[in-house]
Amino acid sequence: MIDKTDLLNLSPEAKREHYHKVRMARKKTQIDAAIARADTEKGLLLVITGNGKGKSTSAFGMVGRALGHGKKIGVCQFIKSRTDTGEEAFFGQQENCEWHVLGDGFTWDTQDRSSDIATSERGWQVATKMLTDPSYDLVILDELTYLLSYDYLDKDAVLNTLSERPEMQHVVVTGRSAIAELRELADTVSDVKDEKHAYKSGIKAQKGIDF
Ligand code: ATP
Ligand code: MG
Repeated sequence: MIDKTDLLNLSPEAKREHYHKVRMARKKTQIDAAIARADTEKGLLLVITGNGKGKSTSAFGMVGRALGHGKKIGVCQFIKSRTDTGEEAFFGQQENCEWHVLGDGFTWDTQDRSSDIATSERGWQVATKMLTDPSYDLVILDELTYLLSYDYLDKDAVLNTLSERPEMQHVVVTGRSAIAELRELADTVSDVKDEKHAYKSGIKAQKGIDF
């Protein structure tokens, strides 16, 4: 340990070095304590919401991670109906990844609330099978938030199925405007902020970036 007189004789660089060391040592103690405290293992519910780009791609990033660890994954894509995405082409052909596109298109395309509800219910049945089967380590419910915010599905039933799922199963829910009850139930919530998006400058959706 350097005493006060030694410190006064140090060059500005050496002083800086010293203070950095002290700060980092303090930080390490705090981080090590936090790591030691976080010793629970359980299946997580993650909600990735907000207006910015990066919600679904974040979920698919976790699919890649989980596949790398040999986990079994189920993906349910609600609302959207396109089956030409890069993520489906890539992950859908992986042996450990089951991929379902369960949407009919956006509400402003279908313009039919009762058919949207019927489609949502059919999709939710597929999701429920995964959420009651412990062999799925990770379940992605892409764009599920809309089915709750538009009241297409019974909110309590969905929240109940999510909370009663197998103990070690991870679930990621994506989509804008996640309802408060879902955020509350979640272990991790990320709100992706829209600062800028190329689309607003008239640039169309780009292959490999947007789909
Ligand atoms: P991504 O799938 O790229 O991670 P996302 O899941 O965050 O996007 P969605 O609301 O599902 O966002 O929209 C998907 C499509 O809309 C993508 O093509 C994405 O680039 C585009 N998009 C996302 N956010 C915005 C935005 N703020 N303005 C315009 N387009 C957006
Ligand atoms: Mg999305």
